[in-house]
Amino acid sequence: MNATLIDGKVFAASIREKVAAHVARLQAEHGLTPGLAVVLVGEDPASQVYVRNKGQQTKEVGMASFEHRLAAETSEADLLALIARLNADPSVHGILVQLPVPDHIDEAKVINAIAPEKDVDGFHISNVGLLATGQKSMVPCTPLGCLLMLRDTLGSLSGLNAVVVGRSNIVGKPMAQLLLKESCTVTVAHSRTRDLAGLCRSADILVAAVGRPQMIPGDWVKPGATVIDVGINRIPAPEKGEGKTRLVGDVDFAGAAEVAGAITPVPGGVGPMTIACLLANTVTACCRANDLPEPE
Ligand code: NDP
Repeated sequence: MNATLIDGKVFAASIREKVAAHVARLQAEHGLTPGLAVVLVGEDPASQVYVRNKGQQTKEVGMASFEHRLAAETSEADLLALIARLNADPSVHGILVQLPVPDHIDEAKVINAIAPEKDVDGFHISNVGLLATGQKSMVPCTPLGCLLMLRDTLGSLSGLNAVVVGRSNIVGKPMAQLLLKESCTVTVAHSRTRDLAGLCRSADILVAAVGRPQMIPGDWVKPGATVIDVGINRIPAPEKGEGKTRLVGDVDFAGAAEVAGAITPVPGGVGPMTIACLLANTVTACCRANDLPEPE
């Protein structure tokens, strides 16, 4: 392997340490405890794991965690009523509704019901618009984590060619906005993109957010490029035993690591950064709600 490994676990731990220190200061100097409410509708196993991890890490940094687990058949009206209560609750500074929600609930309606200043996922239409127009907003956690790793690896990103593969509202689009704000020349690729291989080969920064196991081979990577692999895909791992599985990204790690300058692993790359940024966003929301200086 030639590339430098971008260690998301270590980076995320350093963010959590800073968050914990800020939380301690808010408590000591202002009697404030930042609070994060996480709402889960239904019993999706992956979502349950995410919600448990978020709750645990929230408490570990000294913040208050409010978990709301609702039955899969909960009505949209009942979910909206809960969000209204959380919006009005001064002990709640951040609200996150774990996605996806069941089919009978309108996801956009739910997201846009969250008070924008408590929207720590950054998915509310107001925050999307603020980010797109370069104004102060809540920034979606996964792209924010990617950006922090890119800045840490490369310093200034100005003038670099960035290719983001994937155009979802939660990863691809906000990632592209953030890179544009850093003065990268940004191309967003998707399932209809022509000559994806050639496009990827032009990227100084390649962000893969597709959800297809190892679809980007090493020979799509420009020598020396920085590769951020957002994908989390579970594939069979017969070498670990019958029925066993393992996690891989959207990039063929072994192949890409021979060519890239730096690369994130899966697991242990973008994943841990996402929750760390969620905690950081909650502290930011608490500071803004109380007219206090925000963490850097
Ligand atoms: P979506 O399914 O919402 O979006 C996938 C995107 O990839 C779409 O824009 C789609 O294009 C594009 N795409 C699909 N197939 C191809 C292809 N063959 N060539 C080029 N583009 C393609 O996924 P998400 O953005 O929600 O997530 C992407 C991945 O990131 C997933 O593996 C997910 O698990 C992971 N993830 C990881 C997180 C973390 O914390 N590390 C957080 C969030 C997601 P089109 O629009 O044309 O359909």
